[in-house]
Amino acid sequence: SYKITGQKIFISSGEHDMAENIIHLVLAKIEGGPEGIKGVSLFIVPKFMVEEDGALGERNAVSVGSIEEKMGIHGNSTCVMNYDGAVGYLLGDEHKGMRAMFTMMNEARVGVGMQGLAQADVAYQNALAYAKDRLQGRAVTGTEHPDKPADPLIVHPDIRRSLMEQKSFVEGARAFILWGASLIDAAHRADDKDADGLVSLMTPVIKGFLTDIGYDMTVKAQQVYGGHGYIEEWGMSQFTRDARIAMIYEGANGVQALDLVGRKLAQDGGKHVMAFFDMVKTFIKENAGQDAEFDASFMEPLKAASKDLQSAGMYFMQNGMKNPNNALSGSNDFMHMFGHVCLGLMWAKMGLAAKKALKDGTGDASFYETKLATGRFYMARQLPATSLHLKRIETGADTVMALDAANF
Ligand SMILES: Cc1cc2nc3c(=O)[nH]c(=O)nc-3n(C[C@H](O)[C@H](O)[C@H](O)COP(=O)(O)OP(=O)(O)OC[C@H]3O[C@@H](n4cnc5c(N)ncnc54)[C@H](O)[C@@H]3O)c2cc1C
Repeated sequence: SYKITGQKIFISSGEHDMAENIIHLVLAKIEGGPEGIKGVSLFIVPKFMVEEDGALGERNAVSVGSIEEKMGIHGNSTCVMNYDGAVGYLLGDEHKGMRAMFTMMNEARVGVGMQGLAQADVAYQNALAYAKDRLQGRAVTGTEHPDKPADPLIVHPDIRRSLMEQKSFVEGARAFILWGASLIDAAHRADDKDADGLVSLMTPVIKGFLTDIGYDMTVKAQQVYGGHGYIEEWGMSQFTRDARIAMIYEGANGVQALDLVGRKLAQDGGKHVMAFFDMVKTFIKENAGQDAEFDASFMEPLKAASKDLQSAGMYFMQNGMKNPNNALSGSNDFMHMFGHVCLGLMWAKMGLAAKKALKDGTGDASFYETKLATGRFYMARQLPATSLHLKRIETGADTVMALDAANF
């Protein structure tokens, strides 16, 4: 064992009494180790020492210095932790701490992506109930509830647009994250190397895209409430405050985009991104050409969006080498494009399943009709965002990097 001295900040649930012991995973340097990040090792530091027979012993020299005041997630104590010669046990090999930690971080990032989805979903469910309940104005095409002093908000096209954006994101994101989680299972349980490569490529997308858009969706849901969205009593601002952290922790989303473009695209010689494109291409080839309406509303938008994504990848290959700023000025756009293409793929798959269920007459027809209508909305109104992202990416770094720092 080692004696560890130092401080960690921003430690979620760093201290609490909800469990009889806490195991801190700590990255620290062993004296004489290499400089920089390559020198860190990973340690287990228990709050209470554990005796030979498993009983809890003395308190270890790790303590909470203070608890941060935060914008949201008030149910979670974010602590400054002090280590004053605390006993730590090496986990894995000396100086290989970063690699060991990333086995945890990758899945933690998928977990944070899930938070983006979860906050968007609960905010949407509240907004939907409010839109059906609150009476304000009349439907532009003629009164729908003459017995009431006004029609409910849900008759208004702009409220419906917002609710459809929320619903189509939440359902698409749920499929996407389930797919990611199933790839993790395949990698762990069946030692599937391709699944491992694919989920490694998509992890920054799951984390960055789902939390960026998840946050936007909580704001949209809050907006449905009008003034009451801003009043604490209704609870909508809590979703927005709580969703905000997911864009920051487990690596800020800018760093997720950097990881995607700077590292994951080229990982294993670009094998995983090529496998992704092949998979989308094969899916389209195998399922297009059978139903003109489905092709027009699902397959063609997916094909166009995936072409945009490939063009962006090509732009990075051709221009990122000579000037890496050309690639990194577009990294956020690329992460968002990638997210849209993944959700587009999920919607096309869900659309096919819904079509089949309707044809076979299995299950609840209205559920499947609703799925198809929601998918059509996503493909028509959300997925084409890829073309704007591509346009931005193709302008490179010139306008982004034009100003001297002094001129900002
Ligand atoms: C409430 C809360 C709970 C947390 N819980 C934990 C925890 O339990 N354990 C733990 O270890 N950490 C925890 N953290 C830390 C968290 O993971 C980091 O704050 C987060 O990863 C961002 O790092 P940073 O604060 O150092 O920001 P910086 O690295 O300083 O980043 C600042 C900004 O610059 C951008 N940026 C930085 N570098 C680059 C680059 N090379 N290229 C482009 N953009 C860049 C980032 O995207 C970001 O927008 C927590 C933080 C908070 C606020």
